Amino acid sequence: MHAAEKKVRAFVRVKPTAHFAQDVIKFGPDNKSIDIYIKKDAKKGIVNNKQTDWSFRLDGVLHNTSQELTYETVAKKLVSEALTGYNGTIMCYGQTGAGKTYTMTGATAEYKHRGIIPRAVQQVFKAIACSVDSFITVRISYLEIYNETLCDLLSTTTSSGASDVQMAVVDCPQGVYVKGLSIHPVSDEEDALNLLFEGETNRVIAEHSLNKNSSRSHCIFTIYIESRVRVLSDIRCIHSKINLIDLAGSEKLSKTGSEGRVLKEAAYINKSLSFLEQIIIALADPKREHIPFRQSKLTHVLKDALGGKCNTVLVANICGEALHVEETLSSLRFATRMKWITTEPVVNVTYDSEGTVKTLEKEISLLKQELAMHDSLVNRSLVTYGPLTDVQVAEIKSQIHKYLQGTIDEIDIMNFRQVQEAFRQFKLIVRQQEGEVETRLRSKYVLIDKNDFAAIAAAQKLGIVDVDHHLLKRRDVETRPTPVSPKPDEKKKKFRTSSEQFKKEGTKSFFSGRDLAAHLPSKSQVIIPTKNLNVKEKARNEDTAKKDAQPSKPVSEEISQRPSSPPLRAVAFEQFKEECGSEINRIFKENKSILLARRKRSSTVARRINIIKQEMEDIKKALEAQRQERSQQGEYVDEKGRLIIDEKEFLLIMKLKDLKEEYRCSYAELQDLKAEIQYCQHLVDRCRNKLISEFEIWYSESFLIPKYVQNALKPSGNIRPGMIPINRVMCLEEDEQERFERMQEEMLPSGPDSFSFYKAKMKTDQKHTYNRAMSSLKLMHKKPGHITAAGKDRALPFLHVT
Ligand code: ADP
Ligand code: MG
Repeated sequence: MHAAEKKVRAFVRVKPTAHFAQDVIKFGPDNKSIDIYIKKDAKKGIVNNKQTDWSFRLDGVLHNTSQELTYETVAKKLVSEALTGYNGTIMCYGQTGAGKTYTMTGATAEYKHRGIIPRAVQQVFKAIACSVDSFITVRISYLEIYNETLCDLLSTTTSSGASDVQMAVVDCPQGVYVKGLSIHPVSDEEDALNLLFEGETNRVIAEHSLNKNSSRSHCIFTIYIESRVRVLSDIRCIHSKINLIDLAGSEKLSKTGSEGRVLKEAAYINKSLSFLEQIIIALADPKREHIPFRQSKLTHVLKDALGGKCNTVLVANICGEALHVEETLSSLRFATRMKWITTEPVVNVTYDSEGTVKTLEKEISLLKQELAMHDSLVNRSLVTYGPLTDVQVAEIKSQIHKYLQGTIDEIDIMNFRQVQEAFRQFKLIVRQQEGEVETRLRSKYVLIDKNDFAAIAAAQKLGIVDVDHHLLKRRDVETRPTPVSPKPDEKKKKFRTSSEQFKKEGTKSFFSGRDLAAHLPSKSQVIIPTKNLNVKEKARNEDTAKKDAQPSKPVSEEISQRPSSPPLRAVAFEQFKEECGSEINRIFKENKSILLARRKRSSTVARRINIIKQEMEDIKKALEAQRQERSQQGEYVDEKGRLIIDEKEFLLIMKLKDLKEEYRCSYAELQDLKAEIQYCQHLVDRCRNKLISEFEIWYSESFLIPKYVQNALKPSGNIRPGMIPINRVMCLEEDEQERFERMQEEMLPSGPDSFSFYKAKMKTDQKHTYNRAMSSLKLMHKKPGHITAAGKDRALPFLHVT
């Protein structure tokens, strides 16, 4: 949990004095700044003459401030944050006698004058008294650092410095701690204060026995707070510590004029404080990577307590007398530097894994007992609940395989671990199968990206996919051999068997078509049989490609299944004519060829009649001319009064007679042919209808009508697939060639000149039909998935029954 970036807070506390240097020390109106003025001539040699005025801006100037207000300003917030998990450090810095001890510990004789430590202890215990849902423990330690030696002020055994030798500052991932320092749990405020006073007393005793000066040592009073909250089975643990530090006097060595032991002390003090200052400068520099905490005991112990993840407050204690202005300046500089340090306090939270484990272990043993009891009640004695062994896993695996093969019908359920392992095994098998299916598909098909329009267009051109990218031709369907003319009564049976076989094969496959699609690597891909590889390339040579798409291979052993989308009717129709509809198609073709032959004959006869007619006209004209010539020349009549004609005229008359006879015969033949043609036409139409309706049924059953609908259709018999409105227009119209022949046969008797006329008409009609077909095609594209009930007049231009 990261809090916002913070700065170290620094305050200055001015010790009240009768000789306060009003001219030297001046406070800002907001009580946050302090200015120092030094006269140039005053204290020559000591004061740096180069600068005479200084201004320091801090977080607050505590001037004539009570202990209570000092605590509220300096410590209250820090202590309350420590109760929520943030570490906190308060340090008092300044020359000896400036009031550091007074600020930190206070006058122990009087409650009113108690310092930060007793007030902090009080705040902590008050907060504990208020909290209900957490279990909070407080512990205390009191450490003194004297001449780089660590002293435990609360060590019960210590009356001399003997035991202090073993103490050491130790770095560990959780932070820095002092090995050997006693940490005392306290149950209430009084307990804690007792330890504080005991420490103070020990300090004084040590001072006497070692002949040391308390102002030469650093004292660190630490309050450790730990609160545990149980969140479900986890135990959330928040812990923090408050370091309350009374530093040694910061006064300069030269000023004291010390010698010997005192000089040595001063050297240590100055050293550790100057290291502290170095640390603070280093901490304030964001580019500094290494902070030399270990240079002195003090800085090493304060590693966690300075900056970083901790709330830090400094109190610079100063004397108000002009005499101490140099020390005052030095303390204010130190305080200002402290303010440069940026901190990022974080909550110290851990989850007590040990406690959690203990709780869970207890729960598990309880549940095991419960299970054992349950098992004995239902006579299950051999069940184990531990993790599965390799042998057990292998056993489950073989069971699953047997189950899938059908060798066993059930899998015995023993316990949950076994059920989970069984599912895991199923998952493995499914994954494996998926891989195999994909490999098989890839060996057979080529995948085209749905966004690759060029490839799709090429595939459409080849008739491999339709406009909706549905696969049209499958090898297994195309390559089924054409049945050899079955007997008429077998026809229907054969027909059914074929489509049923088709469906059966579909169910035999491991996945249904839809499943298969779902298992493909990408749904935006279209499958193309591998046979039509390099679609783009082949599209360039359409003829070759078309030849390629034609059936060529013998029966394929590959699994056939109903495609997810029906093939184009035109393609299916071709297939139908070669397979189930071959017989009817043969009859249809036979009838049609008879019809065509009759029409041809009829046309020949008609042409001949026309020629005869013309010849007869010519002869009639010639005879007329003969007759006129004869009457002009005078007619010869025989004894019986019969008109005598010459041989030429006679021949003409005979020819005319023959022609008449021929005309009569031809005419009679033409009439017969007409009747025959009419009959044949009827047969052809019927065959065509039959072919189309049979195809419709086959197409619907094979591709469109769901199986359950087919089942509904079968038994009752009232609903026959044939009754489903079939597009009647679907090539019921005769094709252009037929129409032309019919027209020829009908119209030619009215004269050979009509030929060009009708040929032109036929061309126009062809064009019209083409346009109609194109618009129908567009309509179909708009409405994909049309089946049966659609408009009667909609032409299906792809289906040519010729
Ligand atoms: P330090 O610990 O910095 O050497 P002390 O805390 O011992 O100085 O203070 C020296 C004397 O000054 C003590 O007698 C203390 O009671 C007194 N003193 C310090 N600061 C104050 C203050 N703010 N108000 C009243 N007395 C003070
Ligand atoms: Mg002191």
